[in-house]
Amino acid sequence: MSVEEVFVHVGLDDFDSPLGGCTTHLASILVEHLDHEVEFIDYPNLVRLNPNIPWKTRGNGAVALRFKVSRAKLDEVLSLVFRTANSYVHEIGLHPKSQPCIAVYTSVVRGIDRRLRWLSGKAVRDVIALDVALRTAERAGVLVKPVVEGRLRGVIGALAAIGNPLDDCDYTYELIAYRDRRYWGLRDRLVDYESVVEMDKATRNATFLNVDYEVGKALITPRGPDPVLFGIRGEDPEVLVDALRVVRCGEPIDRWLIFRTNQATDAHLVRVRSLGEVRVYRSVIAEGIVTSRPRVLRGGHVIVTISDGVNSIDVAAYEQTGRLTKVLKMLMPGDRVIVYGGVRPSSSRHGPTINLERIIVLEAIPEKLVHNPWCPMCGKTMKSKGRKAGYICKHCKITLPPSARVVVELDRSSITGTYYPPPRAYRHLMKPPERIGRENTGKPVKMVPCWHQP
Ligand code: ATP
Repeated sequence: MSVEEVFVHVGLDDFDSPLGGCTTHLASILVEHLDHEVEFIDYPNLVRLNPNIPWKTRGNGAVALRFKVSRAKLDEVLSLVFRTANSYVHEIGLHPKSQPCIAVYTSVVRGIDRRLRWLSGKAVRDVIALDVALRTAERAGVLVKPVVEGRLRGVIGALAAIGNPLDDCDYTYELIAYRDRRYWGLRDRLVDYESVVEMDKATRNATFLNVDYEVGKALITPRGPDPVLFGIRGEDPEVLVDALRVVRCGEPIDRWLIFRTNQATDAHLVRVRSLGEVRVYRSVIAEGIVTSRPRVLRGGHVIVTISDGVNSIDVAAYEQTGRLTKVLKMLMPGDRVIVYGGVRPSSSRHGPTINLERIIVLEAIPEKLVHNPWCPMCGKTMKSKGRKAGYICKHCKITLPPSARVVVELDRSSITGTYYPPPRAYRHLMKPPERIGRENTGKPVKMVPCWHQP
C-alpha cells in the first residue's frame, strides 16, 4: 500500500428504530455513496453482539465498513459518511430510545488495535458499560461521532463491529435485499414461498435456514417495520447472488448487499466449568444433573432444574422451540445433560433461568417401575396391605413381605443425543447443525465482483 493511503474502519450501530430504518440498510446506502471514492477491503461486516442485551431493538447487530482511501481524500470521505448517516436518521425520525453512533478507526496497517478486539469479544458474550467503551475508544485513537449529542450508547456496538474483522474465527455471509420505501411498515413481505423452496433446494449445503418445512414457513423474511425484504444466509457469496435470482417477489427490490458476518457461528456461547460461573445476560454451555421432574407451564413452556452438586439453576424451553420442550419433558432426576442458552435474570416469579437453545442428553438413567407381585398360587396381581406392610392375595389369602415387590428397569438410553430447536426458533448467532464441520477460519476469500446493488 502506498504511504499516501490509510485503512479506514467505520463502525455503525443503533440506526434502527421502531419507526423504520436499520443499521444494515444505512450501510448499503453508504456503500453506494462510497463505491467510487474508496477501495473496499472486505464485505461490510455484520457483527451480531450479545443476544441477551435487554435494550437491543431486534437482533443486536452492528456493522463495520472497511476500506482503503488516500490521505488526501480522507476528510471528504468521512464527512460524506457523517452527512449520510445524519440525514438517514432525520429522514426516518429519531426514536427516543435510539442512540445512533459512528466510530472511525484509521490505521496505516490493516490490523486492528488489540483493545478493540478485546472489546468486541466481550460485546458478543457479555455486557459492556458505556464508560469502558469510551475509554477503549480513546486509548485506541477511535473517533466517536454520536448523531445526537450526548446519546452515545450506539458507540458500544460501533466499536465492537470495528474490533471483529472476522479474521481468526468462523464466519458466514448474508445477502440482504431491501424494500422500496413505499412498502416500509407493511408487515407482510410479498415473497413467493414456492420460489424460496426452489432456492433452498437449488442451493442446499451452501445456504441455510431458508425454510422451516415442519410448518411450511419461509424464514428469509422478517416481520417488523424495518426495510429488510429478505435475507439469504450462506457459506459462499457467489451462491447467494445466484440464490437471489431464484426468489420471486411481488414487490420491488430497492437494493441489496452482501455482508460477511459472525451469524450462525455460536460465537456468543461460553463453556462454564461449574454452574457457579453462570452469569445473567451471558450465553453459556453448562453441564449438570437433572434434579427435578419437568414442570409444564401455561403456554406450553417446560422447566427443569439442573445441579452440579453445589449450585443449581432452572432451564427453560419455550413452546416455540418445539422439540426442545419435548426433550425436557422426557428428562428425569439423575439424567446428565449439557445445556446451551442465554441466562435470563431472576424475576419475582422465578430465579435466573437458562433459555434453552440446544441440549445434549449425555446420560439417561434407567426408569424404575415398581409393580405389585403376582400370587404364587393363582398368578393374579396381589394387593398392597399398606405402606411397608407387604402384599396379600385377595383370593388365596397368601401374604408376601414388602421385599417381594417387582422392580422393572426401563432402559431410557435411546434418548441420549444432541437436540436442536426447529429452524423457525433460531436466533442469529446460533449455529444450525448443517454448519457443523463447515466452519471457516482465517482470511476471507477474494470479494466477488458484484456484491451490492446499487
Ligand atoms: P438490529 O438488529 O435491527 O440492528 P439491534 O437489536 O441491533 O437492532 P440496536 O438498536 O442496535 O438494536 O440496540 C443495541 C444497543 O445495545 C446499541 O446501542 C449497542 O451499542 C448496545 N450494545 C450492544 N451490545 C452490547 C453489549 N454487549 N453491552 C452493552 N451494550 C451493548
